[in-house]
Amino acid sequence: MDAILLHNATIVTSSGETTGSIFLSEGKICEIIYSGQDDYELAVRRTAERYADVETIELAGKHLMAGGIDAHVHFREPGLTHKADIETESMAAVAGGVTSVMDMPNTSPATISAERLISKLDCVGERSYVNIGFHIGATNGNIEEIRNIINGKTDVPSAKTGGVKVFMGSSTGNMLVDSKDTLDSIFEIKERPVLVHCEDEETIRTNLEKAKEQYGDDIPFKEHMNIRSRKACIRSSIKALEKAISKKTKLVLCHISTKEEMEMVRAAKGNNPDIIAETSCNYLWFCDEDYERLGSKVKCNPSVKTKEDRKALRNALADGIVDIIGSDHAPHLLSEKAGTYTSAPSGLPSIQQTLPVLLTVAAEEDIPLSRIAAVFSENASDLYGLKRGKIQTGYAADIVIFDIEGKTDVTNDDQYSKCGWTPYDGASLEGRIETVFVNGRKVMENGKVMTGNSYGKLLEFNC
Ligand SMILES: [Zn+2]
Repeated sequence: MDAILLHNATIVTSSGETTGSIFLSEGKICEIIYSGQDDYELAVRRTAERYADVETIELAGKHLMAGGIDAHVHFREPGLTHKADIETESMAAVAGGVTSVMDMPNTSPATISAERLISKLDCVGERSYVNIGFHIGATNGNIEEIRNIINGKTDVPSAKTGGVKVFMGSSTGNMLVDSKDTLDSIFEIKERPVLVHCEDEETIRTNLEKAKEQYGDDIPFKEHMNIRSRKACIRSSIKALEKAISKKTKLVLCHISTKEEMEMVRAAKGNNPDIIAETSCNYLWFCDEDYERLGSKVKCNPSVKTKEDRKALRNALADGIVDIIGSDHAPHLLSEKAGTYTSAPSGLPSIQQTLPVLLTVAAEEDIPLSRIAAVFSENASDLYGLKRGKIQTGYAADIVIFDIEGKTDVTNDDQYSKCGWTPYDGASLEGRIETVFVNGRKVMENGKVMTGNSYGKLLEFNC
């Protein structure tokens, strides 16, 4: 048996930072030896002797973490592959330190049946650079199908089924769920996390009409924040949280964008500790001041809100209320984004900036890296019952190594996403990702993704 020895790295987990060495073999983390223990170097040597051949990578001064688990991506396959596809977007994921993703169901066609889920699983083949899994979408009419899928009563193995995504009061394709009975049934699901996109459609419609009256066809992009308003988010989130409390749902409140929702989640966790707060780097980074400069390039749903909201989200990241970071990576072509307010689609490509943005926010807000390890991979690992996303023996060797003193100067030219741009263009972010392992194989070296090294597997959920 051969092994790779990651020697003398600063190992970051949710418990803190310690220097140590890690042996990887057969795709897994086999041995972790911390430098604090007696005879550390001797223990490393003895362990190395157990393997036929050991490749040693010296990492003194470098940081090492479990690769990110991003449970909220839109890789656009099938149907929208002119914007993005699994191969290109999984390369972008690697470059952002992410080694596992879960794709949302609003593809074309939408992932709302066992048949569609199977065809999505089948289309991965050997093209993904990161591990990948798929959520199922809820509609007003597929609750029986969802029950059958998550209970393994269809041709999809239950371990290949991610969470259940609900667009609550916000339509994406035919996935608007507005029937009260259907919503009640969805919130009764216990086998999987229920992920909700909360924005109240009626509030949005009224606000949009008002903006059209005031501006005609020339609605400024800054109005996005007033159209997809905080009230729209709060109204819908209150409903979701109330239901999750009364039905004890394992609820993921997706991409939280307001201070009020974060406070509501803080309170709701007291009643149901299974409520999970997700936010995205976009809301930790951008604010109302960016609409002027970026226009449609910062148009996403929910909208980016105020500077004060951003600060509240950063505080919630610091004090443990934010559980997971989902990139909500949602590529569109720049030509599509070039339209007017009403014609430019919502969504931002962002996955390639995930870890550098988190490291920057951590530096700016004095947040310990242990918190970053928790929200980047460990909490999602627990939520979805994955044998990856932690620096622990027996777990998959999905690992990101970075130079915390380095910088990531973001340019559109350096993006792996098929859409070829990022709203972070021009940003100078903290940390430089150097090496990434997926299932024990090197997929990024010296800051470049290694073309052809697509070693991602389908995720095995054990929720
Ligand atoms: Zn999304």
